[in-house]
Amino acid sequence: CGIVAYIGHREAYPVVLKGLKRLEYRGYDSAGVALLNGGKLKVYKKKGKVAEMEEYATGKDVSSHIAIAHTRWATHGEPSDRNAHPHLSGDGKLAMVHNGIIENYMQLKQELLNKGHQFSSDTDTEVLVHFIGEIKQSNNCSTEEAVRIALKRVVGAYVIVIVDEDNPGTLIAARKGSPLVIGVGKGEHFLASDASPIVEYTKEVVYVNDYEIAILRSDELILKNISNEIQTPYIQKLDIEL
Ligand code: GLU
Repeated sequence: CGIVAYIGHREAYPVVLKGLKRLEYRGYDSAGVALLNGGKLKVYKKKGKVAEMEEYATGKDVSSHIAIAHTRWATHGEPSDRNAHPHLSGDGKLAMVHNGIIENYMQLKQELLNKGHQFSSDTDTEVLVHFIGEIKQSNNCSTEEAVRIALKRVVGAYVIVIVDEDNPGTLIAARKGSPLVIGVGKGEHFLASDASPIVEYTKEVVYVNDYEIAILRSDELILKNISNEIQTPYIQKLDIEL
């Protein structure tokens, strides 16, 4: 139900944790985060409040300059630790958070099961991240390209954000039908379902449009449409005081 992500010079975990708390008003049943720590994906997720996930992660190594975080409002699969986001691709290299519903996930899941995929949750989200991973492997293409190909097959509403273990300096996000805001900072970028987790860091935001894919690095923001054409980001100034 809520997404926060960060890439940049700060420690990412405290930023996304605080961001999740700012999105708590939306209601949710689970919370989770994925980080890249020592080049490896680390996922911490728990049913219940953000504070429970925080407690679970306490004492674990959370240092990272990139993070994706999620509060879930279950639509496919009961609220549980295993159904909480982020979810991983089949090879464990991609971690993804998702808001919304993948309507044709049953069909995609059957295709993936036929190819030998095994799933560790009941969510539509895990099907989509496996699907993206499968396309990436079989086409031997970039994650960005795999996302574009996958989204052409997807029916439904979504915001997705992906961290790729093989590309530790890049976040990939896309939306259709669910809101997504990018915060543009100095040497850093923020992503969130609304501006509330972003305003304390920057007032410069870009609202991502339907069928757009954002490629975010610390000091670079590239927006493309689903046909791989570059879009000029329209940077707006928020006039909200905290
Ligand atoms: N459909 C997804 C799930 O049930 C995402 C729900 C959400 O938007 O939080 O896990």
